[in-house]
Amino acid sequence: MDLGLNGKRAIVCAASKGLGRACATSLAREGVELVITARTASDLERTAAEIRNETGAKVTPVPGDITTDSGRAAALEACPNPDILINNAGGPPRGDFREWDRATWIKAVDANMLTPIFLIKAVIDGMIARKFGRIVNITSASVKSPIPELGMSNGARAGLTGFVAGLARQVARHNVIINNILPGPFLTDRLRSGFTEAARTSNRPIDEIVSERMRGNPTGRAGDPAEFGDACAFLCSGKISFIVGHNLILDGGAFNSSIA
Ligand code: NAP
Repeated sequence: MDLGLNGKRAIVCAASKGLGRACATSLAREGVELVITARTASDLERTAAEIRNETGAKVTPVPGDITTDSGRAAALEACPNPDILINNAGGPPRGDFREWDRATWIKAVDANMLTPIFLIKAVIDGMIARKFGRIVNITSASVKSPIPELGMSNGARAGLTGFVAGLARQVARHNVIINNILPGPFLTDRLRSGFTEAARTSNRPIDEIVSERMRGNPTGRAGDPAEFGDACAFLCSGKISFIVGHNLILDGGAFNSSIA
């Protein structure tokens, strides 16, 4: 299936590794020209070179913290009129909400709610004028099924989800389509690092710990970031303009419901 994305331009945030990188790679395979961001310049430049080598796409790395005004301005300067925006950033830490002060909360709300909203604000009128726009927000399965110790993630991402639900319906008539993808467990550095301690204390290989923990998932495994990237590219395609304001949960069926 030709997704009809050849020659489109995208900003993919937080894309040197993990889910962001997978989205960038899948879009590049479809002929999309990319601006990718992350804080660590060396990792970002390596990823840009690898995607370029694999796909032949134009990939511009723009190092910076996307949760800051300057980080967002740099990405937008490199790609002022994107056709596609993939919103992503690191997730807030887990913990006990009694220990989180205002500054800690503001950081989480900035990263996982306000940053995507400000990027959407910067690009949406251009998308409306050009009659094409695709925005995908990477959120979390915790939006649908809260993870109690990830209270800041549950809260901040739910705020973004509520905002986007309204906006998606205001702009769909202009062929500007906004959806969210909610990852369950995908085998990225982030997920691996969560299993490092268990591997160390039990003196077992990390892959064994991952397999053990994922046995209960209906698929019996963790998600491959590449399949996340392909789902993201599909939601950016020219052919999905009737899929509006969805929360696509990609978790191997772990969210137990007759209607996911
Ligand atoms: P990851 O493998 O750790 O990759 C995170 C990427 O984001 C890196 O490229 C990192 O590079 C970049 N990044 C982080 N903070 C940034 C910032 N402030 N500005 C710019 N770039 C930033 O993480 P992941 O697993 O792909 O997770 C991506 C998002 O999905 C997170 O919000 C996470 O909470 C959420 N999520 C993931 C899973 C999962 O199973 N993987 C499940 C649910 C939700 P630098 O560190 O160099 O900036």
